[in-house]
Amino acid sequence: MSDLKYKLVVGLEIHVHLCTKTKMFCGCGLEYGVTANSRICPVCLGMPGSLPVMNRQAYEFAVMMGLALNCRISRFTKWDRKNYYYPDLPKNYQISQYDLPLAEKGYIEIPLEEGRTKKIRIIRVHLEEDAGKNIHAGAYSHVDLNRAGTGLLEIVTEPDMNSPVEVRALAMELQRIVRYLGVSEADMQKGHMRFEPNVNLTINLGDKEVKTPIVEVKNLNSFRALERSVEYEIGRQLDEFAETGKVMEMGNKSTRGWDDVNQVTVLQREKEEAHDYRYLPEPDLVPVELDDQWLGDIKSGLCELPLQKQMRFVSEYGLSDYDAGVLTADRATADFFDEAVKAGGEPKRICNLLTQVGLKMANEKGCSLADLGFSAANVAELAKMAEGGDVSASAAGTILEKMTEMKENPQAIAEKLNLIQKSDAGELEAVVDEIIAANAEASQQVREGGKKSGKARGFLMGQVMQKTKGQANPKVVSEILGKKLS
Ligand code: ZN
Ligand code: MN
Repeated sequence: MSDLKYKLVVGLEIHVHLCTKTKMFCGCGLEYGVTANSRICPVCLGMPGSLPVMNRQAYEFAVMMGLALNCRISRFTKWDRKNYYYPDLPKNYQISQYDLPLAEKGYIEIPLEEGRTKKIRIIRVHLEEDAGKNIHAGAYSHVDLNRAGTGLLEIVTEPDMNSPVEVRALAMELQRIVRYLGVSEADMQKGHMRFEPNVNLTINLGDKEVKTPIVEVKNLNSFRALERSVEYEIGRQLDEFAETGKVMEMGNKSTRGWDDVNQVTVLQREKEEAHDYRYLPEPDLVPVELDDQWLGDIKSGLCELPLQKQMRFVSEYGLSDYDAGVLTADRATADFFDEAVKAGGEPKRICNLLTQVGLKMANEKGCSLADLGFSAANVAELAKMAEGGDVSASAAGTILEKMTEMKENPQAIAEKLNLIQKSDAGELEAVVDEIIAANAEASQQVREGGKKSGKARGFLMGQVMQKTKGQANPKVVSEILGKKLS
């Protein structure tokens, strides 16, 4: 790689599958992994005379996303045909939105390190339908049209991202948002989200700046591939510029694919022709008019968005940005935490219980924290017990684990498992006196405060804990020891 001064410039196009029950323009069910071509009908097969009908839920999901992305929502939107031939597109055109997208001119705020955020402008959000899937097997290719006609949200950003990390952060934030809103499962393995970064560099030559030709990397279906492909393009474009001096011009944008095995991008199409998709208004669908009432109904389905929640957990509850990020990764966990705090538990303590014990269990069981079987109120109760010194921090973890099996409140479990700490000063004082009397030498060392006092103090603490079978509250014991041996 050469040592040219450069700035990376990336815009993203993202396609998201909507998790509606049925397809975008017909009643075929959306099920993943079923027999090929078992979820098809004349509409999604493009049979002559068949007529599409818009899926209302898909439209509402799309408007919801437009709102979440701070866009202007169009009160009037229409459908267009984007013509192209490909075997997985039986109609030979895709129903999409061309000049009147349903939302535009918004922004998304993405979380970066140490609580820093950045606003990335959104150009447009529109609805369209997905194509089917070609399956290549030896000398033949098969086509499965179960996916053809799936409601697809297309989101296009301005080229506001300037590092591979920012590109990845945007993709992940978008996943968090669609999941919070319940508009997509956003399961990468199932191809629910696909990314196409447009990448080029602004190179500083001292007396002037030049731009390298834009490369669009097609169809990336993992965060890692997205980040890696952008990283790779930086080096490749720098090398190409050093070698050829080629700069961005009209018509020299190219398309590349990602080779995951070799971790390189590969040229697909040189020169993007003046888009010859022959867009034309879709004659079979009526435009959509969104009135105040309908828009209001859709707005009422919105929730507090993940980044807002994360920032609130930091400002209102005093959590670290890292902890807040872990808790807001999914909505069920975030809501559960919020509920426990509102039930009166100390936020940091609840956070530790949930992230260090709860999420670990949820991971092992492959379920959400909210489905582990304990209530937010009981977690708050447990946190209060730990706070008040009735149980130690480690015992609280054990109790939380048991709360998933023993359907009882934390107090009852703590009693059953003998985990209640003795914090009664009078009772503990008697034990401490006994230990001091039995260990005159160590006690003397503590009183003298010399080199050996630390070790001697630890020894006496250990004796008290042993005597009380580990049930004494160490904080209280330490206070009593301090008072007696000062
Ligand atoms: Zn169909
Ligand atoms: Mn598209």
